[in-house]
Amino acid sequence: MHSSDKFHDECGVVAIFAHPEAEKLAYLGLHALQHRGQESAGIVTSDGLTSRAHKAMGSVADIFTEDVLLKMRGTLAIGHTRYSTAGDSALLNAQPILVQSNKGSIAVAHNGNLVNAVQVRARLESQGSIFQTNSDTEVIVHLIALSKEQTLPEAVADALRRVEGAFSLVMMSNDRVFAVRDPRGFRPLAMGRIAALEGQKHDTIVFASETCAFDLIGADYVRDVKPGELIVVGPEGINSRFYSTAAPQSSCIFEHVYFSRPDSIVFGRAVQTSREELGRQLAREAGVDADLVVPVPDSGVTAAVGYAAESGIPFRFALIRNHYVGRTFIEPSQSVRDFGVKLKLNPVRSLLQGKRVVLIDDSIVRGTTSRKIVRMIRSAGAKEVHMRVSCPPTISPCYYGVDTPSKKQLIAANKSVDEIRDYIGADSLAYLSLDGLKKACGEGPKISYCSACYTGSYPTDIIDVDEIQPAAVRR
Ligand code: SF4
Repeated sequence: MHSSDKFHDECGVVAIFAHPEAEKLAYLGLHALQHRGQESAGIVTSDGLTSRAHKAMGSVADIFTEDVLLKMRGTLAIGHTRYSTAGDSALLNAQPILVQSNKGSIAVAHNGNLVNAVQVRARLESQGSIFQTNSDTEVIVHLIALSKEQTLPEAVADALRRVEGAFSLVMMSNDRVFAVRDPRGFRPLAMGRIAALEGQKHDTIVFASETCAFDLIGADYVRDVKPGELIVVGPEGINSRFYSTAAPQSSCIFEHVYFSRPDSIVFGRAVQTSREELGRQLAREAGVDADLVVPVPDSGVTAAVGYAAESGIPFRFALIRNHYVGRTFIEPSQSVRDFGVKLKLNPVRSLLQGKRVVLIDDSIVRGTTSRKIVRMIRSAGAKEVHMRVSCPPTISPCYYGVDTPSKKQLIAANKSVDEIRDYIGADSLAYLSLDGLKKACGEGPKISYCSACYTGSYPTDIIDVDEIQPAAVRR
């Protein structure tokens, strides 16, 4: 079940080639990507000859203590932090997946979701493959192991041509690191470089879902792995090839709306630029007479800054977030109305009293949380509450690695904007237009986006909708 009224993050991946402390860089990289998944994390390292893995449930800092890292020293490493999208959240499904095959040891970490995993798996099982997990990533591992191609890079390319959907992958053999994006480029993956240390022959090459991971480990952003590209980094240097014919690019626009950190460059564009522009565009499209612009923290903050700048209405933090909320809290037996939201947010009465407020958030998924927040702001004395959302109504689930509720639970799939306004109790409600969203995120000759959760029009064939359900439905 979803515990909050938001789309959930997916996964984060990181890879390090040729560094004397690769395990520590992978750990730090994962720490910077923790917002992409908090259920489990894992690292596989290699000293050039042998690979070692450690995976556990929980957050990166809790799992990777100094003792654990000491036991897995290596010069190559890949890492993964996970919010489960396919397969349940048990440790069994934590990544990276490390297997021994006829092509040597292979470790794989995957961000995304395959849309034909069920079909490929059924075919492989009928041919005798035995699966250890129920994650779709294992399908890729089996395809690599079964490939008739002789070299590992050829086998990887062969396997990837047989899967369909969203995948940004980092892989590792004992002496090479591989980085791949699917031909549509749904999920991000960037390449960076750390200049060689004294006595080190080569620069260190790194890959990560977001460039905020590079900042922490002192790597410079070089470029994105391109859609359909397979990069192999080994003793012979960096080799790039395109394993698949080009497909129209459909990078996930929600990375810019919500998932990625504003300090990251994603799909070659600064997330901060997009997010602030979303707010500016929203102010141009859906202005209103008001006294204050108030963000829902933290998700609405950057768009609210843009909205305030464009509209000239003062920006105020009139909702304060408690950062120390765990998963469960004991509620008094005389139950408190909207207890869950009150634990996380509290209104600043002195700012809100008698004011007309523009409340900014980045999405309304089910509407339950927005309804409570609007009620909270009114009860703190606001005269009017005008809700503005920095993306269009979310009407369809995601099949590409983002954990979304089913269509039945998406309020905008079932109610009109006026009905949603009435449900959340706002004086007015407006969403950003689809054109406005794409414009704010820089759609053009250099980048084109997937926006299927706003349009219901999917860039891949959904082969069997009954089988390929979003994760929330399957749980
Ligand atoms: S459906 Fe939405 S969340 Fe999923 S990849 Fe497309 S834009 Fe991103």
